[in-house]
Amino acid sequence: MSHTAELIAVGTELLLGSIANTDAQTISKALSALGINVYFHTVVGDNPQRLRRAVEIAKGRADIIITTGGLGPTCDDLTKNVLAECFGKKLVYNEEAARRMEAYFRKLHPDTGKMTENNYQQAYLPEGCVPFQNDWGTAPGCAFEAEGVHVLMLPGPPSECSPMLRHRAIPYLSQLTDGAIASRSLRLFGMGESSVESLLRDRMNAMTNPTLAPYAKEGEVELRLTAKAGSEAAALALIAPAEAELKEQFGDKVYGVDVPSLEWVCLELLKKKKGLTLSAAESCTGGLMAKRITDLPGASAVFKGGVVSYTNEVKENVLKVPAGLLEEFGAVSEPVARAMAQGVRALTGSDLALSATGVAGPDRDDRDNPVGLVYVALAWEGGEHVRTVHAAGGRSRIRTVAASHGFDLVRRYLEGLPL
Ligand code: ATP
Repeated sequence: MSHTAELIAVGTELLLGSIANTDAQTISKALSALGINVYFHTVVGDNPQRLRRAVEIAKGRADIIITTGGLGPTCDDLTKNVLAECFGKKLVYNEEAARRMEAYFRKLHPDTGKMTENNYQQAYLPEGCVPFQNDWGTAPGCAFEAEGVHVLMLPGPPSECSPMLRHRAIPYLSQLTDGAIASRSLRLFGMGESSVESLLRDRMNAMTNPTLAPYAKEGEVELRLTAKAGSEAAALALIAPAEAELKEQFGDKVYGVDVPSLEWVCLELLKKKKGLTLSAAESCTGGLMAKRITDLPGASAVFKGGVVSYTNEVKENVLKVPAGLLEEFGAVSEPVARAMAQGVRALTGSDLALSATGVAGPDRDDRDNPVGLVYVALAWEGGEHVRTVHAAGGRSRIRTVAASHGFDLVRRYLEGLPL
């Protein structure tokens, strides 16, 4: 049986725009991986009447309701009270929840260790519910079934909501879906979402098990295949032929399956190739290449360092880009990108070196180069290659896309693919 969920976020600060509803994003992603449809996200303020109305509407169009927020001692347990009332349930004192909270408080305040009286309010949970103990904060969550609807309540702070979702709510929800759901994500670089979608549209619409969904990332596309079967192995077996077909169709544009990122693929390839090393000379990307690779644990084994050569002075004095090249072609040019990569390679002694020089905008540069034009180079022992990139969007997207092109060059070089 397929399930339909509605998320109800409780919190006036969400309505005022003071914070974004990131819990909904986290939960929706997780539900989609479980094969549970999410048709509505509702946001309601800390107001019992309006929350009651939202719950009554949700009851009529979803068989799973997940609330976030309003569980703490500061809001009179608004969410629990209203949800219990809407489903005709009493709140009963849960001894274990109280003991857990006391233990959490002792850990947090070893000197006093005492909970205030209002904290004990949080130990009242709807009768017959499955308590979701909170190892990441105080307010416990819970789940119950009534009137054919599963109601799950999670705390608002993302640092509590996310782990409770992962460790308590997902195991609960997994039992509701019969069989198993498996998914595989193909990551593509070098094609826009619309061209991928237009190639796949007919097939996508015809597919039911597995289903195929494209997701656009900045300059990248993810294709997620999801199948449902009696077991995870059977679901993966349903996915395998479709995955093989997609790999055949998109060839070397597919840089990985179920991998976290392009830079992660580069890091793994560099490690595998007997510890080859990398460095980067960055102008318009302002250190983003270095940041992205050093965000990954284990980067020190392969990334030697980088230079943010934002000015011609630094390009010339640190990277030894010849002044004549800068004068003749300008900083945003193929010869300068090439010289920057060679320069940082010589400076750091790395095996491979990346560079990026371009116009991140918002205005054209002094030589009238258009916004989004970036030269990305890769240098290695005895050679180099420069790619001309025309990236669309604002500054942040242009930088991200340019850095990704750099990592794409590294991956292609290491896999022996055409650059
Ligand atoms: P607490 O025990 O901390 O009071 P709670 O479950 O009662 O938790 P709220 O009081 O509603 O949660 O929200 C606490 C904080 O959690 C908010 O100030 C906000 O920073 C964050 N928060 C709440 N809801 C969301 C949401 N949907 N998305 C992201 N952050 C949220």
